Amino acid sequence: MNLKHARMHSSCAVEPVLIVHGGAGTVTEDRFPGKIRGVTLAAKVGYQVLARNGSVLEAVEQAVRIMEADRYFNAGYGSVLNAEGDVEMDASIMDGATKATGSLSGVRDLLHPISLARAVMEHSGHNFLIGEGLRSFALDRGFRFLEPPGQLVTQYAKDALEDWKASDQSYQSGEGGTVGAVAIDANGHIAAATSTGGLTGKRVGRVGDTPIIGSGTYADNRLGGVSLTGDGDIIMKVCIAYDVLRTAELTGRPVQPVADELLDTMSAELGGTAGMVGVDSDGNVVVAHNSQHMSWAYQRGDTVAYGVSKDDFNLLPASDSEFISLV
Ligand code: ASP
Repeated sequence: MNLKHARMHSSCAVEPVLIVHGGAGTVTEDRFPGKIRGVTLAAKVGYQVLARNGSVLEAVEQAVRIMEADRYFNAGYGSVLNAEGDVEMDASIMDGATKATGSLSGVRDLLHPISLARAVMEHSGHNFLIGEGLRSFALDRGFRFLEPPGQLVTQYAKDALEDWKASDQSYQSGEGGTVGAVAIDANGHIAAATSTGGLTGKRVGRVGDTPIIGSGTYADNRLGGVSLTGDGDIIMKVCIAYDVLRTAELTGRPVQPVADELLDTMSAELGGTAGMVGVDSDGNVVVAHNSQHMSWAYQRGDTVAYGVSKDDFNLLPASDSEFISLV
């Protein structure tokens, strides 16, 4: 797969690309079509923003919003449940041109945490908000929380919590389903965004890697951009999002093999599995995971590439979709 990405998609001039993931974990086959539909649609919607000269920030936000509204993903509607059966979500976004970042944690009853993370970045005067302060900031900015509460909870998430309670109750990413997007435009401007409900059965108040800049998300026009997914309590110990880009820079190696190596080193030393998508500053895409599955897709030009299983690499014309009318 890596070679195919490199062969097909390395280029001298930067060609815009929008890449997304729909979470690292183990996906049962009956869920493949929903995941593929979701990631390919998100890639196309985000790419349309770029194609219409929208900003990379707008592109990654819109791509993530598609998956936050999709019950097949662990973000927004469809988020996994904490130990008390509630949805508590984390999100972050980063602008590779300015290094501006916006993060939030523990937000409830909001369909699109990524849009609030962007508002934190652009309007709060800070990088990271939580709790009551986050909530009042959101209300001041005109965000609407769902009333009555609890509408983001799906039956699938309830069943997963019951299964988790009946299991050994380890905090693994399970099916996964965290979502992320990374974009580069023709000017080499990069942005990255990640949004999640976290881990099934997590302790109330638990914060994962997703909102931690440098662990779950990173973007720097000079280095590239990445969005992580997987066992966040482990990912955040090794700050993979920053480390992968910085290590590639320092060693002069492409990001893809560095990504593969860092994931395997993390798992060998600390356990867990993870995955990421990204772009380097030339617009070469990165797709890496050592989990069994990670749904991902990207659009470049008129072509969409996607996969779920390791070494999956499928292509389809961007126009070829029953969902294109939603764009
Ligand atoms: N990384 C996320 C977390 O630990 C979960 C995931 O990506 O599946 O909150």
